[in-house]
Amino acid sequence: MSTQKPALAKEELLEKDRKYVWHHMSPHNDNPLIIVSGDGCWITDADGNRYFDGMSGLWCVNVGHGRERIAKAAYEQMKTIAYSPMSQSHVPAIQLAEKINSWLEGDYRIFFSNSGSDANEVAFKIARQYYHQKGEPARHKFIARHRAYHGSSFGALSATGQAQRKLKYEPLGAGFQHVPPPYCYRCPFGQSYGSCGLECADAVEAAINWEGADSVAGIILEPAITGGGMIVPPAEYLPKVREICDKYGVLLILDEVICGFGRSGEKFGHHNYSVEPDIVTMAKGLTSAYSPLSATAVRSSLYESFKGKDGASHFRHVNTFGGNQVSCAVAIANLEIMEEEQLVERSARIGKELDRLLEPLKTHPNIGDIRLFGSACGIELVVDQQSKTPADADLVLRVISGCKSRGLLVGKNGDTVPGFNNIITLCPPLITTDDELAFIAGAITEALESIS
Ligand code: PLP
Repeated sequence: MSTQKPALAKEELLEKDRKYVWHHMSPHNDNPLIIVSGDGCWITDADGNRYFDGMSGLWCVNVGHGRERIAKAAYEQMKTIAYSPMSQSHVPAIQLAEKINSWLEGDYRIFFSNSGSDANEVAFKIARQYYHQKGEPARHKFIARHRAYHGSSFGALSATGQAQRKLKYEPLGAGFQHVPPPYCYRCPFGQSYGSCGLECADAVEAAINWEGADSVAGIILEPAITGGGMIVPPAEYLPKVREICDKYGVLLILDEVICGFGRSGEKFGHHNYSVEPDIVTMAKGLTSAYSPLSATAVRSSLYESFKGKDGASHFRHVNTFGGNQVSCAVAIANLEIMEEEQLVERSARIGKELDRLLEPLKTHPNIGDIRLFGSACGIELVVDQQSKTPADADLVLRVISGCKSRGLLVGKNGDTVPGFNNIITLCPPLITTDDELAFIAGAITEALESIS
């Protein structure tokens, strides 16, 4: 365990933070937690308070904090060489690309970048170039979904289906159309699952037809929408979308930035549905966030059309740090830990146990729905169960701060249209013990009781 002490006193740190640091996604008058260390599932702030890291940071620290083996892998790699670009190749990238293929259980070429946003940008560019080189240059559009989050850069934000994240940055990239997600608790089509005929999947086909099938390059979706409110599709949805993609020659791009690497209870989210994607993007759990790295995995059959020796058909995309040796070495150590400690299986068990522990909450008047995808969980807060009116921001914040005061950090779904940011989220590290799960459920239950 690392016991890093803050070099400065708390007040001094806060003062400098207020003066120099620009926080992500939060107001400037915020009084932030200043985190100084982490150990397993727990993190410690500058006051010495310990919190259970109920979101694994930002859905990413899958193997937990303080893993010496990962630190050693980074150290050894740094001693070996500082850097070499991915226009050449290097040993950690080769080994990691092979390992990612075995996790994917498919035949993919791996393009490395730095972040989830980067990985999605790469996917869009590869899809467009692929169709150019196939002689179908009109195929440039993408279908995405309302509520989805795909990243902060222009293309990834264009694919994102959350209006409030885009306001003030528009116009963004052209050619992205959004369809409603398979949100059974509040079916966008007013249907009930079982008798709905999967209208949400039909909406994908309708969008392709409205746009003109010959102009659509791909559809991007998460196997289950995570940050947009933990929206888990019915079992038939993804296979049906795959069929629609095949029918119209549209590439299926799966954003596995959160769902990948065990979070869903399988190695990748799409393994729950037995579909084979054309492109898979991944980041976060790839390194458990010990070092930045992302990857875009492209079916080897698609890669064929980028192989020409004349230079005209290669993928004209480079980023200096993508595939950085240290990050690749970190990812390999991280995935070895996941394999040896069977953390994919543990993720599935965490999900089942959380489901059992949270069951009594289902009768609480402010709980509308509890949704799990492996060990990722969304708890939808409502004014009351009958009306399903989304809980207001004040109630949601009271639950979140009630959890925090009991030593549990939880998340909430990001900015979406007003009235729809009422889902608190949990994404515990995959090493969470049964006792820690009981602690999580206890803290949430008490926090809810305290607001009633
Ligand atoms: N895709 C999904 C599903 C995400 O949740 C995120 C980030 O939270 C991204 C893409 C973007 O990843 P990054 O923040 O590493 O750019």
